[in-house]
Amino acid sequence: MLAQAQHYLKQVYGFSSFRTGQEQIIQAVFDGNDILAILPTGAGKSICYQIPALVLQGTVIVISPLISLMKDQVDALRRLGVSCAYLNSSLLASEYREVISNALSGEYDLLYIAPERLDTPVFQQMLGQIPIPLIAIDEAHCVSQWGHDFRPSYRQLAEHIAKLPSRPRIAAFTATATPEAAEDIAAVLKLDHPEVFVTGFARPNLQLSVVSPASKEQFVKKFVQERKEQSGIIYTATRKETDEVHKFLLDLGIQTGKYHGGLNDREREEAQEKFRFGTWPVMVATNAFGMGIDKPDVRYVLHWQMPGDIESYYQEAGRAGRDGEDSSCILLFSASDIRIQRFLIEQSQGLQDYKENASEKLNTMINYCRTERCLQQFTAEYFGEKQVESCGKCSNCLDQSKSVDRTEEARMALSCVGRMRGRFGVTMVSKVLKGSKDKKLLQFRLHELSTYGLMKNLTEKSITDWLYWLIAEGYMTLSSGQYPLVSLTNDALPVLNGSKQVLQRSSSAVRQLTVSGNENLPAFEWLRVWRKQQAEEEQVPPFIVFSDAVLKEIAATLPLHKGELLQVKGIGSAKAEKYGEAILAQVQQFRAHHNMPNRAFEASGNKETTAVGEQAKHIAAKFDGDNKQEINQEQPSYIASYSMFQDGVAVEAIAELRGLAQGTVESHLLRAAEEGYAVDWDRLVDIELLSLITATAVQLETNKLKELKEALPEEISYFMIRAALLKLSVQ
Ligand code: ADP
Ligand code: MG
Repeated sequence: MLAQAQHYLKQVYGFSSFRTGQEQIIQAVFDGNDILAILPTGAGKSICYQIPALVLQGTVIVISPLISLMKDQVDALRRLGVSCAYLNSSLLASEYREVISNALSGEYDLLYIAPERLDTPVFQQMLGQIPIPLIAIDEAHCVSQWGHDFRPSYRQLAEHIAKLPSRPRIAAFTATATPEAAEDIAAVLKLDHPEVFVTGFARPNLQLSVVSPASKEQFVKKFVQERKEQSGIIYTATRKETDEVHKFLLDLGIQTGKYHGGLNDREREEAQEKFRFGTWPVMVATNAFGMGIDKPDVRYVLHWQMPGDIESYYQEAGRAGRDGEDSSCILLFSASDIRIQRFLIEQSQGLQDYKENASEKLNTMINYCRTERCLQQFTAEYFGEKQVESCGKCSNCLDQSKSVDRTEEARMALSCVGRMRGRFGVTMVSKVLKGSKDKKLLQFRLHELSTYGLMKNLTEKSITDWLYWLIAEGYMTLSSGQYPLVSLTNDALPVLNGSKQVLQRSSSAVRQLTVSGNENLPAFEWLRVWRKQQAEEEQVPPFIVFSDAVLKEIAATLPLHKGELLQVKGIGSAKAEKYGEAILAQVQQFRAHHNMPNRAFEASGNKETTAVGEQAKHIAAKFDGDNKQEINQEQPSYIASYSMFQDGVAVEAIAELRGLAQGTVESHLLRAAEEGYAVDWDRLVDIELLSLITATAVQLETNKLKELKEALPEEISYFMIRAALLKLSVQ
């Protein structure tokens, strides 16, 4: 069965090997076990239940919490040629009935449903009638009451599943689960001796950075302008800031949406959709912009200021790069963020316990902002993972500045804190080290300490910074509360007794990382324009057509025929069938536009010409031999097609002769026409159809392809419409 799984991986998805964990999980499904899989976002959990669905008899049921998530998966799977559907409240009654009847006749390999569906007896009855080899529960953290996205219906699932005539295997998938949450999930879903898979929390494709720019506005301006085409989220702490940053970006001419709890339902829905479809590449939002964001190609998440705890931060930042592509998570940190967060905790309605817990978490968050350790390591270890390797790409790993020996200053500070016996805060410690005449200080007789005035040459502010640095490095710790007290940790002892050196990077006082924009291949930009258009025609978000990863690989390899296209990771046979011609045409155009040599043409010289009628044979002779090379060297590809066309060769024949798809040749002609070459359209499109198209365009006062396509009879292709419009424009 595993061999079959391998086969589908290549044939349907176009991937040549499984990722860490995938193969083992799929094997466990084949072995008939229940499964609990905790794999980070972007690790590829979907394939772990989708491939078994292709291999096993019957219909795999997938429980998924979000309508948009289901729709995306089904849209994407259908483009891979997989038979599947979803049932949720967005369907019309007639659509719903159709899906049910198809499901009953066993038509689907996968059926996606919302957990609430199972609460209805009619639906349960239906499920009882179809063979179900596996129930996959996606985003299984929704089971846990302690989790962030709790959904009551998830808790009823086990009960409903138990009522089925025979119990299928159950596989639960999530990205976020602490050990307690994992236990909760297994218990609530009544998993039967589940095989548990945990592959770690680190997200190697994310570049984490903490930056303290002199001006946040200037930083964001530069950052976003360097990434105009990229999708990104900017999180702010308050609605007011959301409004301000949103306006700031709009004034810069950047397509930006905003999202916060103060908007009405319609506005919020619009914002989400526009973001998903890429109409608004940038979204400024409060943390209310959460659960519904399943957009895989978010290239950056920028925090306008420090959030209150690592959990929130990692969850929000983690919305970047779900597709596994390189993405950035940048936290803009300034010391005043700390005061704001402390204030928020104090103002909150929570009980004392809650407040203490919250300020402990805040302290860890502050440490994240100040630490010099690898940020991936810091986070993964916080979530309980041991021995994480440093990532080599976060702002700390990249910081090349030299280390300075600061053991002496560390000892001064630590011994002062030790002497103050955990009864004072950072401010008072720095006053003592400065040798201040502060009234309170004198009142507590702190001027009598031997450490009084030890650092009198420094400003109080720089002593405070130094103390916070020592806290971030773990030599001291802060208690909870609005006025946290500072005390030593065990790590301070080796420094105090002289057995450990303290090294600090020279740059760490002013961390002003400049983050450079991601350089994209020009072909990627070219293909992206096509993808956007294609997605608009199909009314799906661009990532459904092709993911960034696939598009990038096409851009890097510039395949010239289907065989080469199928080598691209992420292109299986159905995708090649559906988009192959169009994408190859784009590659051809790109090559032509950039005067790149066209290997396809050379290759077609070796290929046996299969005739497409007498004309082709006749013309083949004309273009045989050296001529081919000549055309290839002197003319861009589209001009070669164009001159053949003007020589009287039919489009099909040109395609055959040049080893190109017909669509490619058509696009060559369009391109030639756009550049001012006269094209005899009447030879290509029936004259009556041409006039119908032009008449419609005039009547509707539009030249939008999609609008025209919808208004015209089905058989009129986009190519014909473009041809007609071009004709119209030169008349
Ligand atoms: P998750 O649900 O774990 O967040 P997804 O299932 O959405 O992740 O997959 C994330 C991305 O990884 C998708 O773009 C998917 O096509 C890609 N992917 C999954 N498995 C593989 C694989 N074996 N090789 C290459 N890419 C893969
Ligand atoms: Mg997923």
